[in-house]
Amino acid sequence: MEITDVRTVKLGAEMERPIQNARATMEVRASAFVLVETDVGLTGIGEGYGPNPAVVETVVEEILRPVLLGEDPLDIEHLWQRMLTDGGYFDQKGHVIAAISGVDLALWDLAGKYHDAPVYELLGGATRDDPSVRAYANDLYWDDPEKMADRAAEYADRGFQGVKIHIGRSREADERRVRAITDRVEECALMVDANCGYDEAEAVQVGDMLESYDVHWYEEPVRPHAHDAYSALAAELRVPIAGGENEYTKWGFRQLLQPTPVDQLLPNVTRCGGLTEARKIVALAETFGVGVSPHSFSTGVNLAASLHLLGCSPACEWIEWDVTPYPLIDELLVSDVDVDADGYVAPPSDPGLGVELPDRVLDRYDLSSVSS
Ligand SMILES: [Mg+2]
Repeated sequence: MEITDVRTVKLGAEMERPIQNARATMEVRASAFVLVETDVGLTGIGEGYGPNPAVVETVVEEILRPVLLGEDPLDIEHLWQRMLTDGGYFDQKGHVIAAISGVDLALWDLAGKYHDAPVYELLGGATRDDPSVRAYANDLYWDDPEKMADRAAEYADRGFQGVKIHIGRSREADERRVRAITDRVEECALMVDANCGYDEAEAVQVGDMLESYDVHWYEEPVRPHAHDAYSALAAELRVPIAGGENEYTKWGFRQLLQPTPVDQLLPNVTRCGGLTEARKIVALAETFGVGVSPHSFSTGVNLAASLHLLGCSPACEWIEWDVTPYPLIDELLVSDVDVDADGYVAPPSDPGLGVELPDRVLDRYDLSSVSS
């Protein structure tokens, strides 16, 4: 099998309701997909979250495409190393690694289609009798405390064993929201995401408050560059620290594990280097006794790839279940993927990642037609 073309497709949609966290308000979501075509008629689909799709497109088509044309797409590790050498040598994080991630996911999708097997089987198969994993609901963006508590109760009633809220504006305002939810919802893990809203001193005060509410994890308390602060917070606070959605490659994740490891790594398979690198990050986490719960606020490609990864290591714990109404999640999945009444979800069983980009999706969600 030989790679005959590599190209990108940029899709997006306006949000039905804008969502807010500590850093921004989001009204439009946009995604870059990578298509790897072959001489046997198979096409692999991947996604690279840059976050700017135009930059991912430029990297894929001008830097990575020449490396890939004419190569055997089943040589995934070899091609990953070549992409890193040719593209990621000067740009060790950011859009270049996101673009490599997009190609890598497309190569895994191709390999699964070629072998007529779901990707999780190619990754070694599930480590448990059932490859299903627990899902936590991520929709509780900044809002009135009672409204957030209402939504948390809805998700708990639907069977989710965890919910995540987005805080990070002040200790007092955060506590009102945490208290409202923990007063209403019992028997459900509460994850709290500060979206890097604090400096280290503030993060300690907020962490002390969160510990008193038995929060399951405290995500991105400080900016992602501050590896020393993550280590210090992990050493000082009893509430578990989570981070990594803005980190890249195993070398970057190693900085979240030393000298004191954080408690939960959140690699994004469309950013961190694809499945090829994510499985190594998972292996690293295993050696430190740290959990892994992939960041999956993206599309059906990210969701499917994350689910294939999650079944393959005892270190993997939760899938982030994005319940915001973004059509590029469900509409890309070949078969239905959903959370059951106990809060578990199985990876797709279709060949490859289990995703597709039908013409109706390409026409309807072309990014150039999104208004703002
Ligand atoms: Mg987050």
